[in-house]
Amino acid sequence: MHTITLIPGDGIGPEIVSAAQKVIKATGVQIEWEHHEVGIPAIEKYKDPLPKHVLESIQRNKILYKGPITTPVGTGFRSINVALRKEFDLYVNFRPVKSFEGIQSLWHNVDLIIFRENTEEFYTGIEHYIDAQKSAAEAIGIVTRFSCDRIFRYAFEYARKHGRKKVTIVHKANILKYTGGLFLEVGQQISKEYPEIETDDKIVDNFSMQLVMNPHQFDVIVTTNMFGDIISDLCAGLVGGLGMAPGANIGKDIAMFEAVHGSAPDIAGKNIANPSAIILASAMMLRYLGELDAAIKIENAVAKTIREGTHVTRDINPKNGVNTNEMTKAIINNFL
Ligand code: NAD
Repeated sequence: MHTITLIPGDGIGPEIVSAAQKVIKATGVQIEWEHHEVGIPAIEKYKDPLPKHVLESIQRNKILYKGPITTPVGTGFRSINVALRKEFDLYVNFRPVKSFEGIQSLWHNVDLIIFRENTEEFYTGIEHYIDAQKSAAEAIGIVTRFSCDRIFRYAFEYARKHGRKKVTIVHKANILKYTGGLFLEVGQQISKEYPEIETDDKIVDNFSMQLVMNPHQFDVIVTTNMFGDIISDLCAGLVGGLGMAPGANIGKDIAMFEAVHGSAPDIAGKNIANPSAIILASAMMLRYLGELDAAIKIENAVAKTIREGTHVTRDINPKNGVNTNEMTKAIINNFL
C-alpha cells in the first residue's frame, strides 16, 4: 500500500486525474490517496492558495500526484507549481518526449529526454516594479554552481545508467555571459567525468530551429529553467501535442508527478481532454515507487490504444475522437 498526496488541480485537472486514478486502480496497485485542494478553490476555502496542511501531507508522504493548476496571468498569486518545486527543492524536472505509433505528427521515432533545472533563474519570482507608476520592472535570475552541478550530475548519471549516447547543453551563454556561462561551464566540466557520453552544446535559438528540422540528432537535453519550460512544449508539439507529454519533478527524497500541459481552460469541463499525459505520468510515478510491472502495463496499454486509433480523443483523431472517459476505458481494456 502506498499513501500518495493527490492534488487534482483545476480546469481539465479533475477530469484527467480521475481518469488516471481508474487506470492506476485497474493495475491492482493499492494506493491510499490524500486528496487536497490548492490554488483558486483553496483561496475560497482557506484564504491561502497553498495551505499548510497540504505541504504537511506532501512532506509526510514524500510523493505528490498532481493535475494542472491555473496561474493568473500578470496579477494574482504566484504559480503554485513553481512554489511546490521550490518548497520541496524538486531540482530535477524530468520530461521524456516519445513518439507514439498512430499519431499524426511532424516527426516519428522521436525519443528525447529533457532535464530542466527546476529551482533557479527567472522562475524564482525575484522581480518588482521600480516605482509606483510601473515605469519599469526588473527580474533577477540567479544561477548557482551548486544547482548547475546537481542537475548535470543527475542528467549524466541517468544517461550512463540508461545507455544514452549524447547530452546536449542548451544555453544562451553568448548573451547571458555569467548566468548562461556558469551553467555551460559546469556542464562541460562534469561531462569530462562521463567520457563514454558524447557532449555538445547549443545556443537555445539555434537549438530550437535544429530541433524542429531534425529532432533525431538529439538525445538527452539539459537546460535552465525557462528554456526548459519552453522547449518542453516545443518537443510535445513534435510528437503530437501536449496531451502526450508527462513529467516528473524530483528532489532528494520527495517527488511530484504531473503532465507537462496546463489546465487547458478552453476545453475544461467538456470531457474531451486527452488523459494520456497524466496517465503516463502515473506510470512514471509507479516506476519511482518500484511498481515496475504496473508501470509497464500502463505504458503498453496507452501505446496500444493510440496505435489502434479507434478510441482516442479528438486532439489525436480530429475526425472520430472519443471522449476522455471512453479513451480511459479503452486503455484499461488494453491491459495485457
Ligand atoms: P495549456 O497547456 O493549459 O493548454 C495549451 C493548449 O493545449 C490548449 O489549446 C489546450 O486545450 C491544449 N491541451 C492542453 N492539455 C491538453 C490535453 N490533455 N488534451 C487536449 N488538449 C490539451 O496552456 P495554457 O492555456 O497556456 O495555460 C493554461 C493555464 O495552465 C495557465 O494558468 C498556466 O499557468 C497553467 N499551467 C499549469 C501547468 C501546471 O500545472 N504544471 C503547466 C502549464 C501551464
